[in-house]
Amino acid sequence: MGKVLIIGAGGVGTVVAHKTAQNREIFTDIMQASRTRSKCDAIAGEVKRRTGVTISTAQVDADSVPELVHLFHEYKPDMVINVALPYQDLTIMDACLECGVNYLDTANYEPRDEARFEYKWQWAYRDRFENAGLTAILGCGFDPGVTSIFTAHAARHHFDEIRYLDIVDCNAGDHGKAFATNFNPEINIREVTQKGKYWENGQWVETEPHEIHKPLTYPGIGPKESYVIYHEELESLVRNYPTLRRARFWMTFGQEYLTHLRVIRNIGMARIDEVEYNGQKIVPIQFLKAVLPDPGSLGENYTGETSIGCRIRGIKDGKERSYYIYNNCSHEAAYRETGAQGVSYTTGVPATIGAMMFLQGLWKRPGVFNVEEFDPDPFMKQLVKQGLPWHEQFDTDPEV
Ligand code: NDP
Repeated sequence: MGKVLIIGAGGVGTVVAHKTAQNREIFTDIMQASRTRSKCDAIAGEVKRRTGVTISTAQVDADSVPELVHLFHEYKPDMVINVALPYQDLTIMDACLECGVNYLDTANYEPRDEARFEYKWQWAYRDRFENAGLTAILGCGFDPGVTSIFTAHAARHHFDEIRYLDIVDCNAGDHGKAFATNFNPEINIREVTQKGKYWENGQWVETEPHEIHKPLTYPGIGPKESYVIYHEELESLVRNYPTLRRARFWMTFGQEYLTHLRVIRNIGMARIDEVEYNGQKIVPIQFLKAVLPDPGSLGENYTGETSIGCRIRGIKDGKERSYYIYNNCSHEAAYRETGAQGVSYTTGVPATIGAMMFLQGLWKRPGVFNVEEFDPDPFMKQLVKQGLPWHEQFDTDPEV
């Protein structure tokens, strides 16, 4: 049905490679390209062993538009699945426009020198993608991604008006390390150390980092201290659902993790500007990444599960209703299937399904879109089929 080019060969790229290969009737040709080709080759070898499917590989510096253009002209993909880093979003979108290729990613663009994620840079490509007749699907991981589709599903099937949205993200896994991040450490630490922000009564309310917190109860896991942080899907959801009076994002952190984060920040290791070291310029957070455990290596001994969902309150048939939709994902099961841990799995599976939606013509529309702008129904069906089943609770205590 279609040819895909996966860019990036980290934890998420590993899962996308396995899941596209498992759906060979849709992904008829698969290539994986990244900065370090040997990582693509290792993934392709494992995919071949497990599924019998051959993935071709290539080396590319995705910061370079000419290199990308050269590769796109050679391989001629229908769609690029961008699971490199958010820094590469715009160069890859530029190359897609130049070569007539459709685009999908899981995280919005971030400038390297500023820890700030906003959709404005990518939304600015709308007219160009529309005029070129190309589709760009933004934020198709779990959060952003499935959380936005859960919201679209709730708004379509269970509410006349959604008013309060609380996205709740719990990782109750244990990887046995004193401190590690579950995805790229540089991106992760930039995200969780910034100020909190949520939407209320038509405006953004800013908080100190981790200022608002309370224990929330996660299905099959129990109560976990949860913290309001800013997360990128809030920006598009409050635009696409203007009835929302409040929208927040909660994430669980253990005390040990927070203590490490505080120390990292206090001693300057979270800095994203250059410092002079031994006559050389280094960026402390990039140095830190080099000494922290590779998120891709956590899978082997990871136990426990993630639980991510949306708690929504609003009106149905003139009455107040509360609703909770969530998925729990086992780190061990994810590792058994793909060799990657649950956080990579919950990101890579939705990215694969998004590409599937496009290739099947279900999400094919010229322009640049956030996932909640598409039909959620076929995506929700695939989530169950592809390993991320979801569950619903009606009128239980939302706690938030
Ligand atoms: P990793 O750091 O494990 O992998 C990133 C990959 O991108 C590596 O293979 C890296 O290459 C490659 N890469 C980096 N820079 C370049 C470049 N200039 N050119 C080509 N390749 C490059 O990250 P993850 O797999 O954990 O995360 C991937 C993406 O998924 C990130 O954008 C992250 O923000 C996003 N994400 C989204 C989530 C969601 O739910 N929406 C949740 C988790 C992650 P090399 O190996 O050489 O370093």
